[in-house]
Amino acid sequence: MNDQPKVLVIGLGLIGASFAKALKTRGEAYVYGYNRREGVAAQAKELGVIDEVVDNLSELPDVDCIVIGVPVLAIAAVIEAIKPALDKVKAITDVGSVKGEVVNIVRQQLGYVPASFVPGHPIAGAEKSGLMAANDQLFENHMLIVTPLEETSAEATTLVSRLWSACGAEVVSMPVARHDEVLAATSHLPHLLAFSLVDTLSRESENREIFKYAAGGFRDFSRIAASDPTMWHDIFLTNQDALLAVLRRFQADLSQLEGAIERGDGDYLKVVFERAKASRDHFS
Ligand code: NAD
Repeated sequence: MNDQPKVLVIGLGLIGASFAKALKTRGEAYVYGYNRREGVAAQAKELGVIDEVVDNLSELPDVDCIVIGVPVLAIAAVIEAIKPALDKVKAITDVGSVKGEVVNIVRQQLGYVPASFVPGHPIAGAEKSGLMAANDQLFENHMLIVTPLEETSAEATTLVSRLWSACGAEVVSMPVARHDEVLAATSHLPHLLAFSLVDTLSRESENREIFKYAAGGFRDFSRIAASDPTMWHDIFLTNQDALLAVLRRFQADLSQLEGAIERGDGDYLKVVFERAKASRDHFS
């Protein structure tokens, strides 16, 4: 075990298990794992994703860092269960896709925000979920956003950042509210559109028959509609304000396009499409 940090990952799904596996395979940490569903942590050990199984959150080993890898609305139960251990760890972090509500949850559960708490969010993922989707390269060359709070200690932020950097991620820091605004626009709204479009089309098409005519564009756009419904249910309900703000702006723009198509206003369509193409070409 030498002087590696000891890390406990709670929630061994796509993100938690990928993080655990990345740390373990790179020799960057001694990794403990806990999962609520029975048998998952033992399987993670067999697969070499973690070093040791934790069976019960009321009996935690001494670790340097706890990483919570569960859906956002499951975080409250985890914080409640690990309360007694929180004063002993150097850092505690999460990987939830929403940050404001996670901070609220921690504050509500504990009555304060511990100095060890560093909210985090890897900007990497997949439409697959669960332990078997774990990929130790998942974070390689992807961003990891930390949103340290006034209460957060520099020591805790440094440890969490070091662990993510060791997995190949580029760590960036931003305020909680900015994180939720940016992610509402770049991730949450596109997922909502994909879920909604695929649902509309599949309800209109008997036996989903039209999907067999789908070409690359639709496949690319709709891939994320295969993402985990529980995880996204939690995200949409916990980032309401930022999501509704961008959704309403988008709905207004979509109505403008609808009007332009109705009145045959090709000039308007061209202006919008050219502006969009220039932006997309710029960031690719
Ligand atoms: P997942 O469904 O693959 O994994 C979640 C795991 O947590 C499962 O193994 C589940 O059994 C376990 N779990 C649920 N409740 C638990 C509890 N109370 N105690 C212990 N274990 C529990 O989901 P995921 O994709 O890994 O997402 C996990 C978190 O990561 C979410 O908060 C999500 O917002 C965030 N995230 C996901 C992605 C993505 O693309 N999937 C990307 C970035 C961040």
